[in-house]
Amino acid sequence: MTTTSNTNDESLRQEVKAWLAENWTQDISKELLNEQIYWEVSAARKNWLKKVVEARWAVPSWPEEWHGRAIANEQASIIEREFAKVRAPGAGQDRNNLWANTLLAQGQQGLKEKLIGPLLRSEVNMCLLYSEPGAGSDLAGIRTRADKQGDHYLVNGQKVWTSGAATAEYGMLVARTNWDVPKHQGISFFFCPMKQSGIEVRPLKQITNESHFNEVFITDATVPAENILGAPGMGWQVLNMALAYERSSMGEGARGPRSGVKQTNKEEPLINLAREASRLDEPHLRQQIAQAIAYKKLNALNTARAKADLSQGTSSSIMSLGKLAMSRILHEEGRLRTEILGAESLLEGADHPRAEDANFLSLNAYFTSIGGGTDQVQRNIIGERVLGLPKEPEVDKTIAFRDVRTS
Ligand SMILES: Cc1cc2nc3c(=O)[nH]c(=O)nc-3n(C[C@H](O)[C@H](O)[C@H](O)COP(=O)(O)OP(=O)(O)OC[C@H]3O[C@@H](n4cnc5c(N)ncnc54)[C@H](O)[C@@H]3O)c2cc1C
Repeated sequence: MTTTSNTNDESLRQEVKAWLAENWTQDISKELLNEQIYWEVSAARKNWLKKVVEARWAVPSWPEEWHGRAIANEQASIIEREFAKVRAPGAGQDRNNLWANTLLAQGQQGLKEKLIGPLLRSEVNMCLLYSEPGAGSDLAGIRTRADKQGDHYLVNGQKVWTSGAATAEYGMLVARTNWDVPKHQGISFFFCPMKQSGIEVRPLKQITNESHFNEVFITDATVPAENILGAPGMGWQVLNMALAYERSSMGEGARGPRSGVKQTNKEEPLINLAREASRLDEPHLRQQIAQAIAYKKLNALNTARAKADLSQGTSSSIMSLGKLAMSRILHEEGRLRTEILGAESLLEGADHPRAEDANFLSLNAYFTSIGGGTDQVQRNIIGERVLGLPKEPEVDKTIAFRDVRTS
């Protein structure tokens, strides 16, 4: 396999185009574009991702040692654009694969060798073991503990709202390893094996009637010492990098409709819906639809800017702007769908797919306003780090965590 670190933009574009023409066949594209994916990754998708990784299109800006081509970010985005043109998945993972990027940046050699490839090929399921019953927005207040015992850590505590925990093989875990230093300094970050007797997963019911997130009870679970990312006690820094990747993907978009009914044209969904409901001529709706679409396009540009920052190694605060904007956009789209449908929006179920989708998307908008940090917390970050406003007072920031008072 030859790599293209010395090729120019045009020859790279031709190379990726030719590869897609040969490999992104009608059969494969039809199958992958028609499947409904959320938590489960189909065998067909895994096969496709394997090809993309082998051809070194998945993470082209990464070093060759890690399935990359060691090319500049600008060239990597040429590849992503060609994949996007034909709607082929798998490219751009050097920017949007939260797990693999965090592991590559902070993991130890052995763990990287074991998991980077499987993560890029979506062969390993992951979850985020961050939030706890007493620590959500104030994540640095976590009380799950990890105590070093020889070649492993013994972990005890409870996590909550853990999306995908039931199917995950590993969880990115934050746990306290030092109680004698202030709260941000005693946290470590791990890849925690989920399939072990010390981990019990209990599903929670969501507003959308689904159960993707869970409570996770951790009792004497073991994590090999080599599964720590970053140095012991430096987990807060690793976490911030991982959160920025998460916010960037949440700022980019969200789950689509649930009814399974596919739109057959390429129109903006809101325009399509208004046309179907014979309401596209109504000026007040046209104005609202135009505004919603404009916000979406503007946010896509903002997210691209933030991702460029992230690829330079900074955990961009602009991600918070994108995530907050996407949260508002999704709520507005849900509201607008409901307004376009009028009384029909009161219906639900398979016989009324347009109403089903409007209701589901309205409820699911809360996913983006809470998961990955609430809208209010994003506003705090923007206020402090983008606008330079004074920080919120934090009375427990400088005292040893074991002396922090709890209710
Ligand atoms: C769909 C979904 C999926 C999720 N998936 C995961 C997951 O996979 N893994 C995981 O670890 N967690 C996950 N979460 C949890 C999520 O990260 C937390 O719910 C979130 O961080 C808020 O924490 P909390 O629920 O404890 O609320 P709290 O922190 O208790 O906040 C309660 C309210 O107070 C407000 N508030 C809190 N602090 C401030 C402040 N300083 N300034 C202003 N307002 C404030 C909040 O905005 C909120 O409105 C998920 C949540 C959702 C909804």
